[in-house]
Amino acid sequence: MAEKTLKDAFYETLKDVYYAEKAGVKSLKKAARSAQSKELKAALTEHGEQSQHQIERLQQVFEILGKPARAKTCEAMQGITSEMEEDLEDFAGSEAADDVLIGCAQAVEHYEIARYGVLKTWAKKLGLNEAESLLAETLEEEKQSDEKLSQIAESLTASGQNEEPKSDEDEEKDNKEAEAKLKQKPKVA
Ligand code: FE
Ligand code: FE
Ligand code: FE
Repeated sequence: MAEKTLKDAFYETLKDVYYAEKAGVKSLKKAARSAQSKELKAALTEHGEQSQHQIERLQQVFEILGKPARAKTCEAMQGITSEMEEDLEDFAGSEAADDVLIGCAQAVEHYEIARYGVLKTWAKKLGLNEAESLLAETLEEEKQSDEKLSQIAESLTASGQNEEPKSDEDEEKDNKEAEAKLKQKPKVA
């Protein structure tokens, strides 16, 4: 058996990301449909469209390598996707739904960042300059998408959640007040 090379590893990882990116497009569409916040919906939709271009870039990298564009099942992405489905179901309609959704979407982005990061490094080592710049472009988009999701998460307000973390004592006091309020007539805040 011939010795495996870095180029082989590059090709194998490329196939992995190709699968992950395609699966990512599907889960982004699903996530965009479930999002309640308009801003979140727009961000997920936009990144879904961006991902289509990322798939095309991957096809270009396959071409540079002179290898067929093939997807290889990525078990990590399958796992992230099935966790997402479970979480979305569990928190559907709850005040935390969008926060949970963002958490799931960021898991996808982080996996992509890890993979594109390594592919970019390997492309450079292999002297595949054009591939390196294509991968760098996508890596940057994934990082921006992750950053945007963090910003949206911070801006989301959920009822019952404060900006600053509370001490246990304050929490207890609030709980008692809330209980007392429930017993009284509803008041306009
Ligand atoms: Fe992507
Ligand atoms: Fe993978
Ligand atoms: Fe992405």
